[in-house]
Amino acid sequence: MKRILISGAGIAGPVLGYWLNKAGFQVTIIEIEKDLRTGGQNIDITDAGRDVLKLMGIEGAVRDNFTGEKGLRFVDHRGKVKAEFPKDSEISFTRDLEILRGDLVKILFDFTKDDISYKFGCEVIRLNHEENQVNVTFNDNSSDSYDCFIAADGMGSSSRKLIFGNDMKMKYLGIWTSYFTVERTDYDDDWAKWYNAPDGVVVLLRPDNKASMRASVNYLSDNSEYQPLSVDEKREKLVNVLSNKGWECDRLVQSLKKKMTSIWVR
Ligand SMILES: Cc1cc2nc3c(=O)[nH]c(=O)nc-3n(C[C@H](O)[C@H](O)[C@H](O)COP(=O)(O)OP(=O)(O)OC[C@H]3O[C@@H](n4cnc5c(N)ncnc54)[C@H](O)[C@@H]3O)c2cc1C
Repeated sequence: MKRILISGAGIAGPVLGYWLNKAGFQVTIIEIEKDLRTGGQNIDITDAGRDVLKLMGIEGAVRDNFTGEKGLRFVDHRGKVKAEFPKDSEISFTRDLEILRGDLVKILFDFTKDDISYKFGCEVIRLNHEENQVNVTFNDNSSDSYDCFIAADGMGSSSRKLIFGNDMKMKYLGIWTSYFTVERTDYDDDWAKWYNAPDGVVVLLRPDNKASMRASVNYLSDNSEYQPLSVDEKREKLVNVLSNKGWECDRLVQSLKKKMTSIWVR
């Protein structure tokens, strides 16, 4: 039986693993983290993605985890609705299948874990190709050989560098973006709400299926230097960006100050 090694237990890795296993390959998936990475906000599944779910027989499981979003409303600084795009309208921002990335990752893992061997806390640190096989060394210094090694380890893939020798190139587009989770309040309903705040700040609040709201704050900045910030530094940056900006911004500031949220800024 041909042996395939895939790096990355996100979305692409388990889906590919499923199909390769079905085609008769023996599949191992390695994940660099100690556990599944279930972070993230909405992913909308459309077109080919939906066809793949159907063919795998898991469209129902994904639908059961729908975030419940009814559509998108643009609001002004007082929360007055200025425009509305319901889920089923032609140019809707909310798609038919909206799911939190973490829920999708869990569904795919549960669906494949009996047929695929998963190894967590594991990455390839060295690799060399031979005529008909690839030899890999893992981070615990053990080694093995496979018929094929496939990198499915996301946008910041380190396997890409091992395979092709070149690193990912980033182009700064003048915007910083952040994602965090806040408590649901009486103000919230099942509509996503988009607010264009002064000074090039865009704030988005979206419902999830966990009784919380997913916030996203995007802002223009000339500072193109991406520095890995500590969680407290991220919080401080966002508090400065959001203070006195109208709509629900002060609520988001209070929520950030309570330090209850996990934050991701890039
Ligand atoms: C935490 C997180 C949150 C995200 N949130 C959103 C979102 O809300 N909405 C959206 O549309 N997109 C989001 N994305 C962007 C994401 O790139 C795609 O939406 C989607 O997850 C891509 O799937 P993927 O399988 O290609 O990569 P990913 O989902 O990024 O999965 C890659 C996996 O590979 C693992 N990995 C990385 N390096 C190695 C290595 N060297 N060896 C082994 N494993 C490795 C990672 O830990 C990860 O589990 C998020 C990505 C991440 C990682």
